[in-house]
Amino acid sequence: MTDSPLRLRLDAAALVANWTLLDRLSGAAACGAAVKANGYGLGARGVVTRLAAAGCRDFFVASWAEARALADLGVTVSVLHGVRAEDMADRPAQIRPVLASAEQVQRWRAAGADAPCDVMVDTGMNRLGVSPQQVAEGLLDGLAIETLMSHLVSADEAVDLNARQLAAFAGLAGRTSARRRSLANSSGIALGPDYHFDLTRPGIALYGGRQRAPHAGIAQVVTPEAQILQLRRVQAGETIGYNATYTAPRDMAVAILNLGYADGYLRCFSNKGIARAGAAALPVVGRISMDLTAICVDAAPDLAEGDWVAIDYDLPATAALSGLSQYELLTGLGARFDRVWA
Ligand SMILES: *Cc1c(COP(=O)(O)O)cnc(C)c1O
Repeated sequence: MTDSPLRLRLDAAALVANWTLLDRLSGAAACGAAVKANGYGLGARGVVTRLAAAGCRDFFVASWAEARALADLGVTVSVLHGVRAEDMADRPAQIRPVLASAEQVQRWRAAGADAPCDVMVDTGMNRLGVSPQQVAEGLLDGLAIETLMSHLVSADEAVDLNARQLAAFAGLAGRTSARRRSLANSSGIALGPDYHFDLTRPGIALYGGRQRAPHAGIAQVVTPEAQILQLRRVQAGETIGYNATYTAPRDMAVAILNLGYADGYLRCFSNKGIARAGAAALPVVGRISMDLTAICVDAAPDLAEGDWVAIDYDLPATAALSGLSQYELLTGLGARFDRVWA
């Protein structure tokens, strides 16, 4: 514990309950967990230990650097960005690449790697992955593929592209040695059993994200909390913060928080965000600074310097309020927060 004036309160029971719900929604398919970007900002090690204890067996990160940071936890980690030349030298057995281009397939073969790998097939994202045509032409023949994957472009929307990607992915059946197939992220799970195959890969919903109706039972996991650095009285007609974007309509009590855009509480929360002391709503007044945020505390007259307030951070509501995505809201949370599991 570094005793920062900022902390993320992380609800371990909610994280595990969310995974359990997504596992149930995945039906017969196993349910993995995307823990890239440091577990979407929560801290990958804290997430992995808790989900592994709950029964999760498949974890996904972006890079080998992220995977190696988890290697001592004894879990299997797939690297979604595949394998670069630089990654080939040091490959712990429980880490495998999700090969994502013909070049990567060649690199894996050239190393004589009959070690298991995963493979990403591109069915419409045009981001990472080999094409269905390359698969048909035999690019993957002879590889020891654990999981064949593709990734949905718009699973959070009801669009025809979902069914087209499903058909393209299903059309690869029997074309590879893959033991398992995997297509669905969090919102893909909600598209129903046709999308589940053998393994699902939720990320955002584990951490409290809700994108589609079946996610209704997903619980908030992350709550930022900030300490009050000082209290002040602001007179009617005075302004608060940079560029005087807020003018006090009356005399008011204001608290200054140790929280700012350098922590991921971005300027879009200026004059919009809400802090809470118990049930009392304490609105942000003025612009968010790099390290400081002002809130009106008229509704909580007993607050004192050193007290902590919680920041409203329900992901769908906060995304709607701020214009940021649910993903940005989590992954932007900075290094100055202590991450405290409870
Ligand atoms: C990030 C990612 C996921 C998880 O997506 P969510 O939308 O957060 O559930 C799954 N698969 C791949 C390939 C990803 O990159």
